[in-house]
Amino acid sequence: MRILLVEDDAELARRLASALGEAGFAVDYASDGEDALLMGETQAFDAVVLDLGLPKLSGLEVLRRWRRAGLDTPVLVLTARDAWTERVEGLNAGADDYMGKPFQAAEVVARLRALLRRSAGGASPVLRVGDVTLDPGAGIVEVEGRSVDLTAREIRILSYLMHRSGRIVSQNELMDHVYAMDDMRESNTIEVYVARLRKKLGREAIRTIRGLGYRMG
Ligand code: CA
Repeated sequence: MRILLVEDDAELARRLASALGEAGFAVDYASDGEDALLMGETQAFDAVVLDLGLPKLSGLEVLRRWRRAGLDTPVLVLTARDAWTERVEGLNAGADDYMGKPFQAAEVVARLRALLRRSAGGASPVLRVGDVTLDPGAGIVEVEGRSVDLTAREIRILSYLMHRSGRIVSQNELMDHVYAMDDMRESNTIEVYVARLRKKLGREAIRTIRGLGYRMG
């Protein structure tokens, strides 16, 4: 899953980006409201972490414009300490959750996972499709109860397919959601990863829908 991180405090952003990366997310970063607005409107993100106090354009204004434009990506807003009015304004502007500063990066990760689950229509922290289960918090994948060793990138691809289970996911969509902008992309890598996933999870775990993409479930 791919996250847009919007935070003008460089040190905080670095800390958050590293926690999100360790948690298996592809992370893109914007440090002001104008960049954030543009990136949110033009790139495919699964969730956004949005600071409200930003240069050029406030986080609140960015969020309002996204929602007005019909963008329904889950947004977690970061608010100043004890600023209850900011939290209310954020939620009213279309935020799905908030965190008051200071906070632990681990809690941001946990809340993001919960938002992603809800937007995929699930409540259980463990994703299950057919014989395959994925616990994103622990990074554990099992097939029929047997644990399977996957690389971070394989888990990222599997996680996206499982969050979209029952739906066809094209190669391009998969690329957009598992790579950050600066990541190296090669057109055949998705095929290679899917082939490796099938070898580890069983041939039937991921179906190819000819000419359209892949589907789990
Ligand atoms: Ca700020």
